[in-house]
Amino acid sequence: MLFEHPASAVAADLHSHSSVSDGVLSPRELVARAAEHAVELFALTDHDELSGLDEAATTARELDLRFVHGVEISVTWAATTVHVVGLGIDPDDRRLRHALAGVRSGRTARARQMGDGLEAAGIADAYEGALRYVRNPELISRTHFARFLVETGICHDVRDVFKRYLVAGKPGYVPHEWAHLDEAVEWISAAGGVAVLAHPGRYRVGDLKLHELVKEFREAGGVALEVVTSNHTREQVRQFAALAIAMELEASRGSDFHGPDEAENVELGVVAPLPSGLTPVWHRFV
Ligand code: AMP
Ligand code: MN
Ligand code: MN
Ligand code: MN
Repeated sequence: MLFEHPASAVAADLHSHSSVSDGVLSPRELVARAAEHAVELFALTDHDELSGLDEAATTARELDLRFVHGVEISVTWAATTVHVVGLGIDPDDRRLRHALAGVRSGRTARARQMGDGLEAAGIADAYEGALRYVRNPELISRTHFARFLVETGICHDVRDVFKRYLVAGKPGYVPHEWAHLDEAVEWISAAGGVAVLAHPGRYRVGDLKLHELVKEFREAGGVALEVVTSNHTREQVRQFAALAIAMELEASRGSDFHGPDEAENVELGVVAPLPSGLTPVWHRFV
C-alpha cells in the first residue's frame, strides 16, 4: 500500500485563467464558478499577470473558498515555449511585478506582426478583431486571435485555429523570446511562492529533452510537476507521476480552465485525482 498524503483528499484546482489574461470569465465569475463546482482549494494563474488576484481573493473570502495566489509565467527554454506556474506568491512583490511587466511588454508588437502574417494569408484586420476579445490591453495572446478566427467562420474551433494558423510554420505564428527558465523560477521563489512546471505533456520535445528540462527546472529551485491537467491522457498522468517521483518533485493538479465554451470536457474542478505515492504540492496551502 503506497503512502497517501492526507492533503490528497482536498479538491484542489491550481491552474486557471481569467479575462485578465486569456480566460473568458472575470476573476469574480471564475471564483464563483469554482465554488459551484465543489473546488475546495483554488488558484488563479493568469499568464504573466497578477492584476486579477485581488478581486479573486476577495470573492474567495466571501464564498469561504480557500484561495492560492498564482501566476503562469511564459518561458523560452531551448527554443521551446514552456510555462511555469507560481503558487503562493506574494502579489505585492515588487520584483515579481516588475519582471512580469517585462515579460508582457513584447506582446503588442508580436500581435501586430501576427496580424500582418494573417493579412498576407488573406485574413484582414485580425489584430483589430483579436483586440475586441482582449480585456487587458497589456495582454493580447494567441487565444484572442483564435476566438476572432472562430467568429469569422474561417475555423470551426479554437483548436483548429491553432493547428492551421498559430503554431510554428503557420502564417500567424511569430516566434518570441519569453523569460529564462532559471529567472522565472527565481522570481517565484523570491516572492515566497513555489514553482510548478506546467502541463509537461504539451511540450513538443522528446523524452530525453523533457528530462533535461525537468532537471534544469529542479536545479533552478523548481518544486513540483503538474502531473494532472485536463489535456493529459491517462498514460501521460502515469508517465509524469513516475517522473515526479524519480526527480523528487512534488505534484500539482489543475484544470487550466479558460472559459465555459473554450474546450470540450474542461471544467473547473473536473480533474483526475493524483496517482498514489505523490506529494501534492498543495500540502503547503491546506
Ligand atoms: P500566447 O501566450 O499568446 O503564446 O498564447 C498561449 C495560449 O494559447 C495558451 O496559454 C493556451 O491558452 C492557448 N493555446 C496554445 N496552444 C493551443 C492549442 N493547440 N489549442 C488551444 N489553445 C492553445
Ligand atoms: Mn492560455
Ligand atoms: Mn500553459
Ligand atoms: Mn494555463
